[in-house]
Amino acid sequence: MGAASPVQPVLLGEDGSHRRVFFARAHHRCLGSERALPYSADRGKKSVNRQALDELKQQIPLMGYLQAHDWHPARPLSRGRWMGLCPLHADHKPSFLVDPHKDLFYCYGCGRGGDVIRFAELYHQVKFEQALALLRQWRGAEPLLHEAARFYAIQLERHPEAVAYLLQRGVRSPELIEHMQIGYAPGGCLRGWLTQLGYSLEALCQAGLVTSAGYDAYVHRVVFPLEGNLYGRSLSASAPAHRLLPGSKGGLYSWEQAQRYPEVILVEGLFDYAVLWEAGFHNVTCSLGTHLNPRQLRQLCEGSPTRTVYLAFDADGNGSGRQAAQCLSQSLRERGIPARLVSLPDGHDPSSFFVGGGNAHEFHRLLEEASR
Ligand SMILES: [Zn+2]
Repeated sequence: MGAASPVQPVLLGEDGSHRRVFFARAHHRCLGSERALPYSADRGKKSVNRQALDELKQQIPLMGYLQAHDWHPARPLSRGRWMGLCPLHADHKPSFLVDPHKDLFYCYGCGRGGDVIRFAELYHQVKFEQALALLRQWRGAEPLLHEAARFYAIQLERHPEAVAYLLQRGVRSPELIEHMQIGYAPGGCLRGWLTQLGYSLEALCQAGLVTSAGYDAYVHRVVFPLEGNLYGRSLSASAPAHRLLPGSKGGLYSWEQAQRYPEVILVEGLFDYAVLWEAGFHNVTCSLGTHLNPRQLRQLCEGSPTRTVYLAFDADGNGSGRQAAQCLSQSLRERGIPARLVSLPDGHDPSSFFVGGGNAHEFHRLLEEASR
């Protein structure tokens, strides 16, 4: 234990230096200078500073943004353009065209197209102003969160109480800690570290890492980097157990890996994910709660048309996990995705199942017995 190297971020590490090199030549071109902008704002009365928009777009190459949101080019076309599945509609054969040099996209399936701002509008289903805010936040928060996660990973090695907590939750192997980039927030030291690195207090507050009173937001929490966020699980019973920084919880956890499998296990919590991964189930993903956001739902449905989803939500006493799983399985079936409900022993979630002595063989049996 304690060999958690903070240098190979799995999820947050979407800074993608390879992308940066690859897209270094992706010059921004002024879009639609002779015709109407494809944004809703242009149709409204609000005047948006054109130069600021161009700057934002230059700083966020469309291709980089798409790839950071799980888009994969399927095949190359002429003039450096790419085709892939459309992330905006349920696409089964690639109809989404991306031109990295012009920073533009167009979908032959749903007929929508534009630049990175238009994409953010459609993808997050928000209005123009909100799309701008999301993009600005994404641009600013990414390196900051990455740095915070690195710092927390180092702290984990220095705080035996955090390691003891992880052991108690079934997180044992250094490989797992490294895979999930698990860290620890002792509290009272992140602000100093990040300001020393040159980040402004304002940026830290904006990202939610530091409270308005100037204190570290996460104290005595085990921290898991997500895409564009950090999840913090409290070690102390007196604080709220689960916390996220302001903003979206992002897509499905570790989806890039899980989506390759024809059968995917969906769990509620990151500790459920952790024990399953440790038990050898790498076709697992996590929705961070029983409610899936539109993006998570889309991820489960797109790509492989033959994917089966095993829902392994908590079998908690009040039945809320089971109920949520039933709702979700129905909505997956309506979209043509076979879903199966895994029935855990009463009062258990996958985490407590393994911590309580369950093994991979037994969990496998639960999968086989899962109802359709
Ligand atoms: Zn489309």
